[in-house]
Amino acid sequence: QPIVDIELGDVVGFEALMRWTRDDGSIISPAEFIPIAEETGTIVPIGAWALLEALTHLRGWINEGICSREATMSVNVSPRQLHDPNFVPVVHEALLRSHIAPDQLWLEVTEGVMIAQPEQALEALTKLCALGVRVAIDDFGTGFSSMNYLKKFKVHTLKIDQSFIRDITNSPSDQAIVIAIINMANSLDMMTIAEGVETKEQWDFLKAQGCTQFQGYYFSRPLTPKDCELFFEKHD
Ligand code: C2E
Ligand code: CA
Ligand code: CA
Repeated sequence: QPIVDIELGDVVGFEALMRWTRDDGSIISPAEFIPIAEETGTIVPIGAWALLEALTHLRGWINEGICSREATMSVNVSPRQLHDPNFVPVVHEALLRSHIAPDQLWLEVTEGVMIAQPEQALEALTKLCALGVRVAIDDFGTGFSSMNYLKKFKVHTLKIDQSFIRDITNSPSDQAIVIAIINMANSLDMMTIAEGVETKEQWDFLKAQGCTQFQGYYFSRPLTPKDCELFFEKHD
């Protein structure tokens, strides 16, 4: 799914969203299979595959001139992956193989990673930051964790959960929460990405509040890599 600069409306990056297509062509939602893959541990090899796949696509699009050379790729990382001792080398290897600069890889973790085995998670996150990879907190504001972790490693971006965006144009409490998140991010020198932007009004509101980037159906639904290329040809 393309991620857009809120001010300019340009595509500045992508979020890799996994899909599982059955033999009959029907699609199984990640909301269905990711939790099972996490529970069984299969997410470790699947996640490593997804990471390399996503970076390889980004490399191809950059080489073909379809997207900017600075475009970023955001990849979701589950707690299980972060607790795997091999995760940091896997990330490093994927960057080398795809020739993508570390600061173009944004890893999305939820607040939940800091709950089970927080020491392991912190160690991995610290090493990833040292590599130059950027860390975003996904679904920010919906987890159960304290904000203590914001002091412990370099969080680059807060992703504002779509549950706060849905009614943003008429709900004063959602507006207050989103404004507070954006202001906090600004004062801590972090970026903000709003998720689930479906209307022009939501975009305008977020722009007026100083949110940095957004993604959502208003600009583009998640696309297959092939449709992504076609989308860019059309937008040229
Ligand atoms: P997420 O990381 O919060 O991803 C955002 C979800 O919002 C995606 O659902 C996306 O398709 C959807 N979305 C995007 N724009 C809009 C919009 O304007 N309106 C609405 N209503 N929805 C929008 P999706 O693709 O079904 O993914 C669900 C979840 O599965 C993701 O939530 C993420 O937690 C997980 N997931 C997906 N791919 C991966 C992966 O490669 N690895 C891991 N660990 N988790 C993944
Ligand atoms: Ca995400
Ligand atoms: Ca999210």
